[in-house]
Amino acid sequence: MFNSLKAQAPDKILALMGQFRADPRPEKVDLGVGVYKDADGRTPVMRAVKAAEKQLWDSETTKTYTALAGEPAFHAAMATNVLGADYPADRLSCLATVGGTGACRQGFELARMANPEATIWVSDPTWPNHLSILAFMKQDYKLYRYFDSAARTVAFDAMMEDLAAVKAGDVVLLHGCCHNPTGANLTLEQWAAVADLLEAKGAVPMIDLAYQGFGDGLEQDAAGTRLIAARLPEVIIAASCSKNFGIYRERTGCLMVLSDAASKEVTQGTLAYLNRQSYSFAPDHGARLVTMVLTDPALKADWMAELEEVRTGMLGLREQLAAELRQLSNSDRFDFIARHRGMFSRLGASPEAVEKMRVDNAIYMVGDSRLNIAGLNAKTVPLLARAIIAAGV
Ligand code: PMP
Repeated sequence: MFNSLKAQAPDKILALMGQFRADPRPEKVDLGVGVYKDADGRTPVMRAVKAAEKQLWDSETTKTYTALAGEPAFHAAMATNVLGADYPADRLSCLATVGGTGACRQGFELARMANPEATIWVSDPTWPNHLSILAFMKQDYKLYRYFDSAARTVAFDAMMEDLAAVKAGDVVLLHGCCHNPTGANLTLEQWAAVADLLEAKGAVPMIDLAYQGFGDGLEQDAAGTRLIAARLPEVIIAASCSKNFGIYRERTGCLMVLSDAASKEVTQGTLAYLNRQSYSFAPDHGARLVTMVLTDPALKADWMAELEEVRTGMLGLREQLAAELRQLSNSDRFDFIARHRGMFSRLGASPEAVEKMRVDNAIYMVGDSRLNIAGLNAKTVPLLARAIIAAGV
């Protein structure tokens, strides 16, 4: 039976990680995989998470199953964090998921159950796993233009032109903040225009929020999501706790669905059903830590302070890189790096230039020239800037 299997193309980013590990050059710089790293290249356990783990070790008396959809306290903590304290609880259904990826998958599954005819609209480019999951599900999707690769900004007019073809009941996937892979994000005015369009079309926005707190701040990064949630009757939100709580391997995410109040009970039941059919209970450890951090004022304050250090550290690196490149190129054409937000920027380099930087300078970025800003530190920024110019970007 198994000899009928076809080899799957390896995940490009994970393959790049393997190549990086095998590179013997000590000066090598990893700007590939989307994991936060501090100036020493470590991905630390956040202080508040560690403290919550200690408390949990002392207080946890059982590891019996929790609720199929996850703990209500986790739902409430996540809804408050993402949507604000005044979130509409009477219209909100929530599901603990296996990371943000699980939230995306279950969100797509829910959309398909509710409307098998739906097309899912996805930004071009997007996180490659969105497309790969949709293709695996044999779910129809269409791309909408998103990125102006010359200006390295959101190609908003083109995006709206493409979304004009959305039908009632279609799902439009939007990145809540820190767009992956481009780093280019909608302004609040643009979010409002998207809300107008989707409202007029009767389409359902699905927001992938994987980097809340990595861009302009915890509240600011949720502003687009909150605007959409306040305006549209039906919204799907796939939130990841991997990055902003630094708990990648705990696999913690939350799917939130706004419906009309009359549909809430069935929607909530359908979410639990989706977990049951996929893997039964989602992991609980990370969700419990997140709940503790978000509901204990001291832990929350410490988490917010550390998250803010992470965010401003990345902004500082962006500014340093843009300044180095301004000097070396004698132009402002790389200033977009300082305007982008989140962990990533798409540099706009050719695959050949990306390869040249890898061969000549041991600098590893994804083939589409997405670079992870958090892979840099004050010492490696000048090296990258010189490599970018030498590669003729
Ligand atoms: N969405 C986007 C846009 C992402 O970049 C990621 C992480 N790479 C995820 C979702 C999912 O992350 P996780 O499953 O690790 O929580």
